[in-house]
Amino acid sequence: MPRNISMSTCPVLTAQADDRTTLPNVFVNGPKIQLRMESLPSKHYQVGNFFSAVHAIATQTMPSDCPLAEYIVILVLITKLLSRLIGQVRTRIPPHLSKILSNSISLMVAQSMSTQTRVSVATLGFSACGTSRQRKSIANIRKQNLPQLGTLENVDRITEWNTGNCAEPEVFAYIPAMKRQLRTRARQMGLNSSKIVCVGLTLKLAKLDVSQLHSIEGMEFCELCRELTQNIADELDCPILDLCPPP
Ligand SMILES: [Zn+2]
Repeated sequence: MPRNISMSTCPVLTAQADDRTTLPNVFVNGPKIQLRMESLPSKHYQVGNFFSAVHAIATQTMPSDCPLAEYIVILVLITKLLSRLIGQVRTRIPPHLSKILSNSISLMVAQSMSTQTRVSVATLGFSACGTSRQRKSIANIRKQNLPQLGTLENVDRITEWNTGNCAEPEVFAYIPAMKRQLRTRARQMGLNSSKIVCVGLTLKLAKLDVSQLHSIEGMEFCELCRELTQNIADELDCPILDLCPPP
């Protein structure tokens, strides 16, 4: 006999603006969990909030060798679910707490350019969220996994947005391991090319209700992420494409 689950008992959806135990525990002050993540340079990932938990689960469970279109469908479905959740949570928190919610989600797909058969892997990441101290901590951890974040020339010119806050740096950190993994597999399979191409797509996570779920918007890479893209592509000899065209 299936157990009935009432949405009215969900701690996320029933938390009030002044509730100091439920919302912060889910979105800000969750228990810190260290995960072994072989595909990150540091080999570790710290889960500290709701979005980092979704990132860890998505990275570990994303299917391999799918066509790009299937990865985009997965991204859109997860974006719709999270946008719906964000819409409901935003009605229960004061505006100054809105930064406890990520505002973008990024997909990174690496695939072989062989015409014989498809090998591909993918991951999803989120823009940094939490208090300013927590976002700073997230940015520092991201710099450990993506040293190129510390060498961007345009950082001094763009001061209103900390490097590493975007969703893209979270997924860019996986590109070196994705490339190694796919090139090894392509060689083992005797494919006619071990050249790898990476494709990124970032979508907005916004406050939406059910009637607005068709209106999910893409976000092109920002100026810092475009510079990051170029630097990583040159360093790894691996093209990285942004699927969201400029406006
Ligand atoms: Zn960016």
